[in-house]
Amino acid sequence: MGNIQQLDEFLANKIAAGEVVERPASVVKELMENAIDAHSTIIEIDIAEAGLTSIRIKDNGDGILEGDLLTAFSRHATSKIKNEHDLFRIKTLGFRGEALPSIASVSKVEITSSTGDQGTKAVIHGGKLIDRGAASARKGTDIRVEELFYNTPARLKYMKTINTELGNITDIVNRLALSHPEISIRLVHNGRTLLHTNGQGDIRQVLSAIYGIQTVKKMLPFQGESLDFKISGWAALPEVTRASKSYISILVNGRYIKNYGITQAVLEGYRTLLPIGRFPVILLSIEMDPILVDVNVHPSKQEVRFSKEKELQHVISETIRQTFRKETLIPSGVPEKKEPKKYSEQTSFQWGTANEKPLPDIAHSDEEMISPQKEEESPPVDYEAPPEDFTPELKNQGVRKEEPDAEPEKPEKRMPELSVIGQAHGTYIICQSEDGLYMIDQHAAQERIKYEYFREKLAHNTGDVQDLLVPLTFDFSGDQFLKIKENLHLLEKYGVKAEEFGSNSLIVRSHPVWFPKGEESELIDEMIEQLLRDKQIDRYKLREEMAILMSCKRSIKANHYLTKEDMKHLLDELSGCADPFTCPHGRPVIIHFSSYEMEKMFKRVM
Ligand code: ADP
Ligand code: MG
Repeated sequence: MGNIQQLDEFLANKIAAGEVVERPASVVKELMENAIDAHSTIIEIDIAEAGLTSIRIKDNGDGILEGDLLTAFSRHATSKIKNEHDLFRIKTLGFRGEALPSIASVSKVEITSSTGDQGTKAVIHGGKLIDRGAASARKGTDIRVEELFYNTPARLKYMKTINTELGNITDIVNRLALSHPEISIRLVHNGRTLLHTNGQGDIRQVLSAIYGIQTVKKMLPFQGESLDFKISGWAALPEVTRASKSYISILVNGRYIKNYGITQAVLEGYRTLLPIGRFPVILLSIEMDPILVDVNVHPSKQEVRFSKEKELQHVISETIRQTFRKETLIPSGVPEKKEPKKYSEQTSFQWGTANEKPLPDIAHSDEEMISPQKEEESPPVDYEAPPEDFTPELKNQGVRKEEPDAEPEKPEKRMPELSVIGQAHGTYIICQSEDGLYMIDQHAAQERIKYEYFREKLAHNTGDVQDLLVPLTFDFSGDQFLKIKENLHLLEKYGVKAEEFGSNSLIVRSHPVWFPKGEESELIDEMIEQLLRDKQIDRYKLREEMAILMSCKRSIKANHYLTKEDMKHLLDELSGCADPFTCPHGRPVIIHFSSYEMEKMFKRVM
């Protein structure tokens, strides 16, 4: 008997069902995963017209036994799991036994495979066996998928432009390459190499093949662990940012996944270090007992569910935060020469309009373009919107308990010793050190100082309540008011006692003592907004937002003359900050012109 067996009905029914072949990228994904599961060390992907005309994947893996070849193309046939027990300990990328039959039913497939002794070959069109026979004995598998969706025109119609489909493919290939630096992966499109990794196991080589060497030079390694999880990876300095979240790559036990909660934890680690609307470049690898993660959630196997998600989120954000806390993060004032964009950076894929041609034989009317698969125009759902059952992780409960109230560890001095030269435009403080010239945005600096000050102050509240001399009233629309009315007990839990006051209004008579004077109304507004938005109040988030708000309002603005003493004082306070390099909105506080950069600008050195 061969290795591949058809799962019995009982087990097959337990597997998340659904279509795996939606677009060319899904074919590439499934076939690459098969090659990886087969222990290949070299995988070559050669595609034409973004995979619509042809996808060929060649590996040097285990190969398929002659007697197994046709079984592999029947439904629920797999060599990777045998019983229900295996379903909870999945170590391979595949296990559903559905990819090959699904692909073969919507395309023309030619496969040759050999385990090393004798080769075998099959040709299958639209799921029907056309031909089979002997083939070369080269160990490995070579599968060619042509004319994808030729017999399902409805699906073909939903394909986008070459550019978009190719973007999806490079995204998949990049992520698989990142999760397998030990495999040499080459992606060729219409004869042109888009990605080539050397398979030496060096993740930095893969990162630079994808993002370019300049970006990789600005990535720091990190490592962390908790009782149940080990995490590691490479995180780009906060000065390197992108406009989308698709540069956040997450691996769980070597499988790349998408997960809203984990993405949020990464962003939490970068909190106040990145400008609003910008996202990091990061590779995060998580190792854990497979029993703690369920990959059998969705046919694409990219969605997972974690047990102990809070613990995991906590270790991720803390590790990232601490990684940067050890660094001096002062960007250079001299713009770098732009590195040419990597073709493999899928979200910035630019072929120019000449290449942005519609796919062959598809009429693209405007209606047709508004297809259900709009993922690249509006980023994938799982990144943007919390799933229904998602509870924000920063609640003042569970593992977060001690963290929000804890003062950030007193940092080592990360600011260089600076002496003040003077002020420019009533806005920038000019300083110097042995390493060159520094410019500090006085408003941003003070925002950072005040933010950390208020954050700490707000953390040390006692829970006592104080009556308002003059009660505050708040008006709402009818439906908002209904929602709030149901949740008045939550407000009260946080020390805000509110009662109904006429139609659609609330009157508030007391508030927690930690509310700063003059900010009561704004804070209560913020709490109510959180209630309406998240259906709960998150004290940690509330305090963060409040600290930002207060720091913003109370900081010296630009165009404000400072004495040298004022400036020195500001610098002193800044160097006492846990994160002195960005304002709470992630804008830089300080930039640097190194002596070398200045000498270069003045052509003193070449
Ligand atoms: P699954 O990967 O979920 O098991 P597939 O339909 O993708 O299901 O593949 C069916 C079976 O065919 C696999 O279990 C494996 O035994 C075999 N197979 C597929 N592709 C390869 C490959 N490239 N090298 C070796 N075996 C393969
Ligand atoms: Mg598979």
